[in-house]
Amino acid sequence: PFDVLVVGGGPAGAAAAIYAARKGIRTGVASERFGGQVLDTMAIENFISVKETEGPKMAAALEQHVREYDVDVMDLQRATQLLPADDDGLIEIQLENGASLKSKTVVLSTGARWRQMGVPGEDQYRNKGVAYCPHCDGPLFKGKRVAVIGGGNSGVEAAIDLAGIVAHVTLIEFDAQLRADEVLQRKLRSLPNVRIVTSAQTTEVLGDGAKVNALVYRDRVGGDSHRVELEGVFVQIGLLPNTEWLKGVVELSPRGEIIVDDRGQTSVPGVFAAGDATTVPYKQIVIAMGQGATAALSAFDHLIRVPVV
Ligand code: FAD
Repeated sequence: PFDVLVVGGGPAGAAAAIYAARKGIRTGVASERFGGQVLDTMAIENFISVKETEGPKMAAALEQHVREYDVDVMDLQRATQLLPADDDGLIEIQLENGASLKSKTVVLSTGARWRQMGVPGEDQYRNKGVAYCPHCDGPLFKGKRVAVIGGGNSGVEAAIDLAGIVAHVTLIEFDAQLRADEVLQRKLRSLPNVRIVTSAQTTEVLGDGAKVNALVYRDRVGGDSHRVELEGVFVQIGLLPNTEWLKGVVELSPRGEIIVDDRGQTSVPGVFAAGDATTVPYKQIVIAMGQGATAALSAFDHLIRVPVV
């Protein structure tokens, strides 16, 4: 059995694996896709001490760093079930391929995925104008025109944030009214370079083949379609944690995030969690890595306290 089994191979999982392995304990990482969301990222400009890098480059560096240590890296493995420890003190992780792994402690770092609009052009222009993270990609649109899709708290926060960087923001909400907190809505309405469109369904992202140049939405009241000329589209219709497989076993928030304390401890003894899959605010690489380190150190702390039999 492992001492620490990390489930998920993104920035959080890679950090957890390195911190655990450096304690000289048996460490494994099982992940569906090593690298995680970083693989889908173009420019990364906010990873402190690295002025600029690209997602696939960072993902390769993560894997290389983990492989410097004696870590059992199990790629293309999807976990489907967690069974808390019974008398043998071992937690079991069942995999989609039928195999199962046993470990004294587990670090869950299965990350999250942005909910997509599912309209033509969205996939084609992903990272070519279609973006999901305003903290990450906002500065790339300095002085340009963008739309934010979604009028919940994250959409309105994104629009306020972007309005300070870009030339103009069009906020598009499907419902008849915004759903964000009133204080955020008031702030948004006070900004001169923001236009709010409600009862609008985005139907297409258009581009010139290389980059986004417009967006089309349908007015849900009148039924007619409108074209907005712009350079960027920020989709803010929800971040979904990859925790469906943990429901009923590990305590989750109403949004499906794994509830952790400030040591990364979950509701299940010996099970820790880190990164975008958890309740920790702000989903960023540098934050996920810090949490991964915390979870691994907590797992080690847990191991040295287990009574010797
Ligand atoms: P993830 O990166 O999501 O990794 C999750 C891991 O778990 C993956 O290996 C996945 O395959 C695996 N997994 C999931 N489910 C299972 C399962 N059931 N069994 C086994 N394995 C599983 N952040 C920044 O700081 N700067 C940026 O510039 C930036 N740009 C971004 C651009 C885009 C397009 C996106 C999508 C995100 C961006 N982010 C950026 C956010 C950043 O990528 C995430 O905050 C970070 O990757 C979270 O790390 P994580 O390890 O928690 O999860």
